[in-house]
Amino acid sequence: TTSLWLLVMLNTTLIKDLADVGKDAALLQGVIMRIQDTPNSSELVTYAPFTLFPTPVPKAVFLQALAVQTHYNTLVDKISRDPDFLQEALASTIAVDDFTARLFRIHQQILREGRSQSIVLGLNRSDYMLDQREDGTSSLKQIEINTFAASFGGLSSRTPDVHRHILKVAGQLEESQRILDNNPAAGLAGAIAKAWELYGSERAVIMFLVEESQRNIFDQRYIENELWKRNIPTIRKRFDDVCKTGSLDQEKRLFVDGLEVAVVYFRNGYMPQNYVSEQTWDARLLMERSLAVKCPDISTHLAGTKKVQQVLARPGVLEKFFPEQPQVVEQIRATFAGLYTLDMGPEGDKTVAMALAAPDQFVLKPQREGGGNNIYGSEICQVLEGMKESTERMAFILMDKIHPTPSQNYLLRRDAPLQIRNCLSELGVFGAYVRQGNDMVMNECVGHLLRTKSSEHSDGGVAAGVAVLDNPLLI
Ligand code: ADP
Ligand code: MG
Repeated sequence: TTSLWLLVMLNTTLIKDLADVGKDAALLQGVIMRIQDTPNSSELVTYAPFTLFPTPVPKAVFLQALAVQTHYNTLVDKISRDPDFLQEALASTIAVDDFTARLFRIHQQILREGRSQSIVLGLNRSDYMLDQREDGTSSLKQIEINTFAASFGGLSSRTPDVHRHILKVAGQLEESQRILDNNPAAGLAGAIAKAWELYGSERAVIMFLVEESQRNIFDQRYIENELWKRNIPTIRKRFDDVCKTGSLDQEKRLFVDGLEVAVVYFRNGYMPQNYVSEQTWDARLLMERSLAVKCPDISTHLAGTKKVQQVLARPGVLEKFFPEQPQVVEQIRATFAGLYTLDMGPEGDKTVAMALAAPDQFVLKPQREGGGNNIYGSEICQVLEGMKESTERMAFILMDKIHPTPSQNYLLRRDAPLQIRNCLSELGVFGAYVRQGNDMVMNECVGHLLRTKSSEHSDGGVAAGVAVLDNPLLI
């Protein structure tokens, strides 16, 4: 395999031809995005960036990531139902981070008023890198879990056929047959459909709450179309639409544009900049208070913060969530990297000293999502020196830096030169669950996502223009 592979990789004319074949295959399969200049028009589209070849991933580690997913679903759900835990875990963070504090206030208001809907819909994606061990094997380490607007479940349902085709054209029939099927779009839609059914109104719609700029619309369209296939109506609305036309009736049913909304699927609202005005916050609160099923609801949103991730890694915390299931605790904990508090006090001081002594071994993370917010290397020292004596530092957590084994590949992206690169990959696993009251009516692992980036970038996802879509080739 490897030698043939290398031969293919080194032949530049062949690579150029394969890249052209690949781009056409991506377009034919609908692995597409709108272009940056006109993100709200489908008149011009291009292929979503992807790797020319799939990336080898050890089978055992891949299966481990799939196997732990339903436990992660359960964990997120349990956290979302534990206000005391959330309060304690986030106390220091919300004292200094305005965005998290604002979300937390909504959470508290909902608790005071009582939740109006007992149906919970969770769609998440747990992301991992494979940390290289000294003996040459690799271990699965979680980067983070996304409980809000985890993307690329749609496009990643179509990338397997692109890589299969490229490999066949490259004469690698055997490899092409080893690309796994993947269909997160169907699984995510299945859970949304379940929540809609339980809501129990034929007329009510699924509302995708979408961004202003809709460059990645096709990723969402796959999920919408899966719902339409089941004759479930979906609409796409922005915060502004909810501000202008959203209302609750006496039973707290949510209406937007005259339509009753059964499920709000948030694909926007995880960044401070998404809340452009007080009205936007009012709209979020309106949706949270409503009878509509929220994906995620405010407490599940908070369960996905990096601070919660750090607190979960403390001794004894997982045991509290799974008191009678030591194997589950062990399975989840095996995926944790080192995570350290920056709260005021001796423990936080120790974290500061440790980071300053070896900044290249850590990542400093604020409570933000969407890529490009983390701090690495010498910048960690600059930032920490500036705030090490102040409570400001409590807005961050520190994490061990994961060192995956690099692989070589070509990243196909519009306007980018075709060049062999050293790459690092991140494996995502999609989870979906639906709970009604105390009954988990669905809890599934619904697919995966491999994203690969050039190793010169420490941060950034596909939407940020850094990573590209990929597929695992199990070895
Ligand atoms: P975001 O919410 O912005 O996606 P992440 O925690 O996923 O934040 O970090 C963004 C990117 O930074 C990841 O996709 C990964 O490439 C890199 N990264 C994050 N944590 C680590 C880590 N512990 N080790 C190595 N790289 C990391
Ligand atoms: Mg991430």
